[in-house]
Amino acid sequence: MSIRLRLAWAFLVMTGLVVLTGTALLFTQQVGERYALLGLRAARVGQITRELQVQLNRHLRAMDFFLLLGEASDRQRFEETGGEVRRILKEWQEVTTHEPSEWIDYRQVARAYDRFRQTADQVITLRAEAPGPALWQLLERPFLTESELLKRLVDQTVQQDLAGREAVSAQGRRVRQLGLNVALVFSALAILMALGLAWWIFRSVAQPLRVLIKAAESIGQGDLTVRLAMSRRHEIGQLALALNQMAENLERLQTQVIQMHRMSALGQVAGGVAHELNNPLTGVLGPAQLLKQQLPLGNPHREMIERIEASALRCRKIVRELLDFARPTKLEMEEVNLTALWEDTLALCHSDLSVHNITVQKNLLAGLPLVRGSRQSLQQVFLNLVTNAWQAMPGGGTLTITTRLVANGWVETLVADTGLGIPRQHLTRVFEPFFTTKETGHGTGLGLSVSYGLIQRHGGSLEAQSEGAGKGTTFVVRLPSVFALPAKGAGVSPSVSIGQTLS
Ligand code: ADP
Repeated sequence: MSIRLRLAWAFLVMTGLVVLTGTALLFTQQVGERYALLGLRAARVGQITRELQVQLNRHLRAMDFFLLLGEASDRQRFEETGGEVRRILKEWQEVTTHEPSEWIDYRQVARAYDRFRQTADQVITLRAEAPGPALWQLLERPFLTESELLKRLVDQTVQQDLAGREAVSAQGRRVRQLGLNVALVFSALAILMALGLAWWIFRSVAQPLRVLIKAAESIGQGDLTVRLAMSRRHEIGQLALALNQMAENLERLQTQVIQMHRMSALGQVAGGVAHELNNPLTGVLGPAQLLKQQLPLGNPHREMIERIEASALRCRKIVRELLDFARPTKLEMEEVNLTALWEDTLALCHSDLSVHNITVQKNLLAGLPLVRGSRQSLQQVFLNLVTNAWQAMPGGGTLTITTRLVANGWVETLVADTGLGIPRQHLTRVFEPFFTTKETGHGTGLGLSVSYGLIQRHGGSLEAQSEGAGKGTTFVVRLPSVFALPAKGAGVSPSVSIGQTLS
């Protein structure tokens, strides 16, 4: 996952946790407020209930006194306290109408008081006017029962009120605690998350950055062998990959510079030697050829002269190659049709190829774009590659020539043989001048280095690929076509590929 995506995820999760914590705290606060209101109302109801209890006791006591003494003042007090009880009941009704109480039924008490008051009024009238058996009968049955009932109901209500208020505050405490616990859990999660994020930033950003800085410093100090192994799924991994590529390119360029210096030094020596050899060689070859013409066929000296001539000719060939390598001639550039050039080259090699039992397979792309180059030099390269190929297939084999169009308008030619292959240890050296594995007298080791130089002068590249000894070889010639875009690094250095680079 990329760093950007990870940060976005972490941000989302943290935001989610903060929102959840905030919601839990808000919920706790609202629940607290709701229970505070409930508590206030319950306190008010409780106050009214206790007031009712007090007034009812006074009311009943006034009734008792009046029944006992029959004083008008007691009756008066009974009426007054009765008014108070009604007022309290009304207040009670008002308070519980808006928000009915769960544990107090006002109507039950009001109904009980109405019933009590009915009998009480009858009792008072009888007590004031005609006390007698009717009064005692009234007192005995409904009055005492109703007053007892009312008293018990009010006492019971007071008890219920206390219990109910206790339950409300306990529930309020529980809900508040729950809200706080939830907020605590989310806060702890947010803290853990923040710690995790800090740890993760350290692990996946700070630490790799330190490694990158160290690697960059080493490269800066000239150690180009530095390579970093990091996952390329995130940006720092990609940066490490880019750093690896940079180190690889620098290493390749360094090798190339060394190679170029070596080649130029060799070229100077080779050029000097070739030049010095050219005149004495002419001195040997000219007289040898004159002598040969003068000696009749069958003369025993003629055979020796012929051997001198052959050796001198071979020396001249080597000298020419040396001069080719040392002092490249100017290229006559034109637009070259590679398909036609390959047909011509294969026609030139036809006899060599058939004598050596080589089957030629041509995969030449129709309509291949033209390349700008020297026809003669390109043919020299192709001839050299074909010659090397058949020489690498002593028992015969298949030579496959493939041409194709690759990215950015470049043209690629693959010359593949099924021959001896190139062992790993030689693969890095085949483009070096004078490197040859052929027997003395059969190879100069200049063919590939000259070919490489020529292709390079065309702005292209020459690459050798081999799976190793006995597994055949493929040479890849890459050239820019007439409408090619310049390609990075093409035609810069000889390349080999069996998973190794020039060193
Ligand atoms: P020469 O052919 O004179 O040896 P070159 O520069 O053409 O010089 O080749 C250098 C060496 O590269 C050869 O001696 C050989 O070992 C190796 N080589 C080139 N082409 C092939 C090939 N097609 N298969 C195997 N080895 C090859």
